[in-house]
Amino acid sequence: MKTIYRHFNEIRSILTSFDLFRDQFKCYKCGQSQFLVPHDIIYTPHKEPVGQRIFCSSRCRHQGCGATIRLYAQQVIPGKHHSTTKLSAFITHLLNNETIENAYRQATGTDDARQASRWLHKLHLNLSLFRVRLNMAPASIGEHWRTSSRRLRLLLPTFRQLVDHFPRQDVCQSIQLLIQKAVI
Ligand SMILES: [Zn+2]
Repeated sequence: MKTIYRHFNEIRSILTSFDLFRDQFKCYKCGQSQFLVPHDIIYTPHKEPVGQRIFCSSRCRHQGCGATIRLYAQQVIPGKHHSTTKLSAFITHLLNNETIENAYRQATGTDDARQASRWLHKLHLNLSLFRVRLNMAPASIGEHWRTSSRRLRLLLPTFRQLVDHFPRQDVCQSIQLLIQKAVI
């Protein structure tokens, strides 16, 4: 089931004529489609529409389970505060041999080394998924990275491949669209 889309407008056009697309959706909890009802729009803190919920309706004689499915535009990291644009910028700064702290500061405009480390941890957990889905050859470790972080040394060659795989695109948006789940 597709839950991440290129643009919010794509989500809107599906949900405004939902009966035509109903077969493509299933409640993740009860497996039913027939009681799904388009629900409220999801906004960023800056009031930009970026997604919409679908409700598995249990109201008014509907026999859904009450679960909610969320559809997002690709610039949103589901369940996260920061956008893919910031995460992609973080990756680019790391590839330019910035320290983890500087890369995070430049990408987000804030200082939080613990958050930067959480991002790296999550990216590390998803690394093999990215590699499999993109059918990437093993990363060369021949490049000279100036970091003393072992985790970062493991990640950087794959980051390089990912960025090269999606030239002129926001790398994290492209990954999310492909894997249909949060990049971190
Ligand atoms: Zn349900």
